[in-house]
Amino acid sequence: MKKATECVYLDSNDPYGAVSPPIYQTSTFRQTSADEFGEYDYSRSGNPTRTELEKKLARLEGASHAAAFASGMAAITTLTRLLSSGDEIVAGNDLYGGTVRLLEKVLPRSGITVKYVDTTDRERVSQAISERTRLVFIETPSNPLMRITDIRAVADIAHSDGALLAVDSSVMSPVLQNPIGLGADIVVHSATKFLCGHSDVTGGALITNDPEIHREIAYLQNAEGNALAPFDSWLLLRGIKTLGLRVERQNSNALEAATFLAANPAVKQVYYPGLATHPGHDLHFRQANGGGCVLSFTTGDAETSKRVVESLGLFSIAVSFASVNSSVSMPCSMSHASIPAERRAELAPPSDLVRLSVGIEDIGDIIDDLSQALATVTPAIAAAA
Ligand code: PLP
Repeated sequence: MKKATECVYLDSNDPYGAVSPPIYQTSTFRQTSADEFGEYDYSRSGNPTRTELEKKLARLEGASHAAAFASGMAAITTLTRLLSSGDEIVAGNDLYGGTVRLLEKVLPRSGITVKYVDTTDRERVSQAISERTRLVFIETPSNPLMRITDIRAVADIAHSDGALLAVDSSVMSPVLQNPIGLGADIVVHSATKFLCGHSDVTGGALITNDPEIHREIAYLQNAEGNALAPFDSWLLLRGIKTLGLRVERQNSNALEAATFLAANPAVKQVYYPGLATHPGHDLHFRQANGGGCVLSFTTGDAETSKRVVESLGLFSIAVSFASVNSSVSMPCSMSHASIPAERRAELAPPSDLVRLSVGIEDIGDIIDDLSQALATVTPAIAAAA
């Protein structure tokens, strides 16, 4: 089944034939006796609406198992629980700020250490891995600099050293990239992004083909109580129905926006893997089917970037991405402000970086908005030249 079909395909054995899956808004389930349990007993452990979502997520990633969490960070937290004191993570050096906060400020309490490396360079990944490395964690494309890591190459390196590879694929969605087919052990999604698509749910997922890994993830999900609630699971199931269409439109809008920005005199550099000039373009299109809806650009000056951001009208100034509505942020002071001070020089994005999430609006309106916002700073640039 092609992705667009899978997104809307109804695989339900509802006794009444409901074409929209019911919301099992219940915390507990009546049992037939005190020592025999049915398929479900308590919604923290399992809920039929969440199961529907988990089955859908697994199928979309071409995997056998998925677990849905209350947020992307809840999913990543559970991922790190697969490790023990003394273990080490080798992580990319351009990651979502909240992930860096977790790795830097929370994981050391459990005796787990992290090494950051430019994972676009496989030699550096090989050199960084030690006998203590249990997990290699990457984002590709990375957020917000849109760096591309070779999933298959890094999977081979991780496996040859006995480590697992987890890929945070939130920027792509399962419609554009399926890391498990490229050798990754676990796919991470902030379902808050493309999977939801409407900025009305926070959710996360861990998806794998390995039954042992999934068993441990499901055990932790129940033990720690961070699973996604039934209503939020249903909202995600509803959002996923239009994922194929949304991605297609957002992809083409983002490519036009990136092309426009690349030709604008107020823009210094555009970071978008859909552009042929992006250094990771060819690799990206060997492992993904589109550039996605997130792109970043610099102007050379943080104040200038701020003026552009605040002059936009159609784009809401907001963290997060991949909603149907276009949004804009300055990662350094917004989504990535949580990177701890001592790591900012190494891991924080440039202060003049603007990140756009391009929505499904008419592309003419998007370009007009970008054009008028950039025009507000262009006279100053022309005068300085
Ligand atoms: N991974 C990436 C790439 C993200 O951008 C984010 C949030 O922006 C997360 C994970 C965390 O997801 P959530 O906000 O759903 O907890």
